[in-house]
Amino acid sequence: MTISYEKFGLKEVINASGRMTILGVSKVSENVLAAQRFGGEHFFEMSELGKQTGAYLADLLQVEDAQIVSSASAGIAQSVAALIGQGDLYHAYHPYTEKITKREILLPKGHNVDYGTPVEVMVAQGGGKVVEAGYANMCTPEHVAMMITENTAAILYIKSHHTVQKSMLSVAEAAQVAAEHNLPLIVDAAAEEDLFKYVAAGADLVIYSGAKAIEGPSAGLVIGKKTYIEWVRLQGKGIGRAMKIGKDNILGFTQAVEDYLKNGSEDGNSMKARLAPFIQQVNQIPNLTAAVVQDGAGRDIYRASVKVAGKKSAKEVIAELKAENPAIYTREYQANNGIIEFDIRSVNTEELAKIVRRLTEIMN
Ligand SMILES: *Cc1c(COP(=O)(O)O)cnc(C)c1O
Repeated sequence: MTISYEKFGLKEVINASGRMTILGVSKVSENVLAAQRFGGEHFFEMSELGKQTGAYLADLLQVEDAQIVSSASAGIAQSVAALIGQGDLYHAYHPYTEKITKREILLPKGHNVDYGTPVEVMVAQGGGKVVEAGYANMCTPEHVAMMITENTAAILYIKSHHTVQKSMLSVAEAAQVAAEHNLPLIVDAAAEEDLFKYVAAGADLVIYSGAKAIEGPSAGLVIGKKTYIEWVRLQGKGIGRAMKIGKDNILGFTQAVEDYLKNGSEDGNSMKARLAPFIQQVNQIPNLTAAVVQDGAGRDIYRASVKVAGKKSAKEVIAELKAENPAIYTREYQANNGIIEFDIRSVNTEELAKIVRRLTEIMN
């Protein structure tokens, strides 16, 4: 039996939620599939494959070095371990040794989020101990500086729509504090679109997720200072082994980065144009009011924001959208305010029509 949804009794999914891990994040291109196939069908000297694809990407991204890892989460854990162990083989073999006490990872309190997994869990996996700086609604460079001790191993900055956005120091300000105290700065930019800006802002290690903005296969990327990347690579002898990435995805992801740099992703204007007829149709459905909104973190992403009135709550509509086959997944962050958001980056015209049909059924 060939592969299909039916083979495993699965529902087809329309993903209007964005790059969500719970749905498999994104779809890859034919070009990326071809690279994955080449990887799947051949053998490699694996340590060379890691180093050479890293060097190739470093060249494209104009950074000192790069290392492909299995996910952005693995990137966080291994970057933390790298900066605690500092290239020491004893540490790689004994990552949680009590002989090393310099394990504090400074994190703005508003960045201590759960992106599907708490940031803290990944820091702990790397042997780090989170120390929060600032408060739930604000963090300044002074708040970070005052928490630095002789046990601080690194500063971690989470650049994400998941974090508190207001009254938050910038990456450049965090980099300045780090530099003033001779500390490395890690930036988790997992879902961000700009592959250059955070290194340019002074980060020492920057982490991206393979299947989010880059639309590659399941992977992660760590870029930055050569010495630190070598320390990250060393984790392959230690905790990194539990986060191993296969040759197929190393090659597929490298191709995805190259294509992403060449073609970019769909821009905001194109999203707005594709959204226009959808918004108009949804506005004709009783008790729904639709409008275009920009991404809360200011990325060039536009979504349909649909306000639900009448007898059914937004949460009930969301549940009904998921219940049928195909299951329609939306962005639920505003559901408690009576709003459902539709992210159309991975939704085609035919699927948009299916969403309108289903919404019409539900609301009538
Ligand atoms: C998605 C995400 C991650 C994790 O990425 P994976 O590649 O799925 O491990 C980490 N940090 C942030 C801010 C994210 O949005």
